Parts: sequence; structure tokens; C-alpha cells
Amino acid sequence: MAGQTDDFAQRVVALIDAGNGALGRHDRRAAAVSYARASEFLFQQAAAARRYDDKLRLAQRARQLLDSVCALKGESAEPSAADADATDRAAPGTAALPRVATGITFADIAGLEEVKETLRLRMIYPARNLEALSRYGLAMGGGMLLFGPPGTGKTMVARAVAGELETPFFAIKPSDILSQYYGQSEAKLAELFETVRNCTQGAVVFVDEIDAIGASRSRADASEPSRRLLNQLLNELDGVHGRPKGLLFLAATNEPWLLDQALLRPPRFSEKCYIPLPDGAARRKLLELRLAGCPLADDVDVDRLAERTAGFSGADLVELCERAKQIPFREAILHGSDRPVEHADLDEALTRVRPSVSPDSLQRYERFVQGVE
Ligand code: ADP
Repeated sequence: MAGQTDDFAQRVVALIDAGNGALGRHDRRAAAVSYARASEFLFQQAAAARRYDDKLRLAQRARQLLDSVCALKGESAEPSAADADATDRAAPGTAALPRVATGITFADIAGLEEVKETLRLRMIYPARNLEALSRYGLAMGGGMLLFGPPGTGKTMVARAVAGELETPFFAIKPSDILSQYYGQSEAKLAELFETVRNCTQGAVVFVDEIDAIGASRSRADASEPSRRLLNQLLNELDGVHGRPKGLLFLAATNEPWLLDQALLRPPRFSEKCYIPLPDGAARRKLLELRLAGCPLADDVDVDRLAERTAGFSGADLVELCERAKQIPFREAILHGSDRPVEHADLDEALTRVRPSVSPDSLQRYERFVQGVE
């Protein structure tokens, strides 16, 4: 039995190490997969444990890892009432798009107060007051393009709009639809928009990495198939805007300067919103959010940590916290010890996680915002 337990602990630790390695490469997706597998092992072990205390301890650790997975994926760890609701309401023939209620709200997003206020005014209040809008002969505005460096929370902001409205969230990821086979990408895009058109109640439709489809048609390297796909996206967007009324469109890109101007004209993504790196207060809030729920030693100074992490994106900060939390967690699995996260763990994590956004690329965003790019 002891041999079996050791073997189990080694497997869990190997998965945690693989996850930590992925974080070192800023590969959050791979890290989340490794932590999720480690969590699954722990849940299995909890189910097999005879003693109640052991069951509880193992299940708590499994749950801790699942929290890390959710943090890395920008998802809510708590299933929301709207989740169940959205599943209930999923109509037949609408399986083509991932359709979930996000359970994320603006309270989960650190900083970005101006962005939240813009979204409240342009999207959330109008969507909540559709009847009043139509009484005054007004229509919902166009879609909103969120742009900025990677890992600053663009996807999370879009999910939070859906969460605030407790409405389903449709995510369109070009990498999921782009195909090397003639006509297949167009067919997939048409299928996705057909699903959106069939949606009778409100929903948030989010096109992630829109530059993958929406790069300018005038670029020298723009191929005929990519031009066709962009034309189709433009037509599809025009076809769904304004009907049904509760549909909100958001898109995100890390490279706004690549986009075809036609995408940025009304009623498409006519509003642009810059999502910058977090400032000091936002970093502090994000660190607090990510370290909440895990025991912290008295020597952890979140203010100081926020100062030391200037230049980090939100995603970098999540990686930092997860990396630090895994240090005592790994010890607990191997040696059965139980200690809080200490200053030294965060220090150690800081030597491994570096800012992923370079000063040069930041300057490019600033120039774009000023209209000189
Ligand atoms: P983007 O779409 O800009 O690349 P994401 O929304 O995918 O970034 O964010 C990546 C991760 O970073 C998410 O998992 C989320 O936990 C975290 N994150 C980024 N910015 C914030 C923020 N402002 N508040 C809370 N979490 C954030």
C-alpha cells in the first residue's frame, strides 16, 4: 500500500512539474491540462481512500488544483445558476458553438474600470432595456473590438459581459474553423452564424483572435481563400446585426493594426476599446483575487509584490501566483506537510515567471491608440 501511495504521489508531482514547466513557457493551456490531470488523480485517490480524513484531505487538494485550472483558463470555479439555465435552453441543432453561461462578472476582473464603464453604457444597460430602446426608436449599437497585448483579460472581459447579463456566451475561435480544405472554413463559419441567428433570446457572441480571419484584404500576402472568408464574415455580421435584438458582438485581437478597415465600420466592430497592461492598483487587486482562498504566511506583502511586478500582464500574474502556490502543494503531496504560501515561494516564482509583453510591443499599442500606427 505504501509503495502504491508513493507511486501515486510521484505521478501527481510529475504532472504538477509538467504544469509548472508549461507556465515557464507561458503556455497556460498546457499547464491547465497537466494540473487538471493531477486533480483527476487526486479525486480518484480520494474516492479510493478508506478513512474519512484522508478522503477529505485528498478531495480538498484536488479542488485546489481545479481552482488553478479555472484561474489559468479565466473561468469561474463555481458553476452558476445561469450555467444550468443555459444548458436547459440550448435548442436542438445549436451544438456547433460552445454555448455556456460564464458565471464571470465584472467583480472578477481586476482594474479596467473605464473599460467596464464603457461596456456598461454601450452594451449592458441597453441590452437590459431593449423595450425602452425600441419605444424611443433606438437600436443597439455596433459591436466592440477589444484590443491590447496578450493576457490582459480581453477574453475574460467578453465573458464577464455575458455573466453580467446572465446570458449565454458563444465563442468563435478562428483557429477552430480554419481548414486547409477548399470551402470548409466558409461552411463552418456559415454554420456558426446559423446557430447565432437561431438564438431567440439574448446572447454574447465573441470572435476571438479576429485578425486570423479579419486581416486586411489589401495585404500583399493575403490569399484568395482568406479574402473569401473575410468577405463572408462581413456578410454574416451584417446579416445578424439588429436581429434578434438581444445579440451583442465582441471581438478581440492582439494585432489591431492588421485588421481590414471594413470590419471596423458600423454596424460591425465600430467601437474600439484598448485593454492595457494592469496598473499598480489592478495588479494588487489581481494578486489579491488569485491568492484569496489559499493560506498565506504573515510575511507575504501583496503591496510590495504589486510594485515588483510592473510590466506583468494579468496572465503573467496568474502564472506567478499559481507557480508560487504549487511549491507548498507539491511538498504536501510528497511529504504530507501542510504550510501556507510564504514570501519565499513568491520570490522563487518571480525568478521563473517573467513579463511576456516586451516594451517595444507596448509602444506599438500606444502608437496605435494615438492613431500614428
Ligand atoms: P487575453 O484574451 O487578453 O489574451 P485572457 O482574458 O485570456 O487574456 O486572460 C488570461 C488570464 O489572465 C485569464 O485566465 C485571467 O485569469 C487572467 N487575467 C488577465 N487580466 C485579468 C484581469 N484584469 N482581472 C482578472 N484576471 C485577469
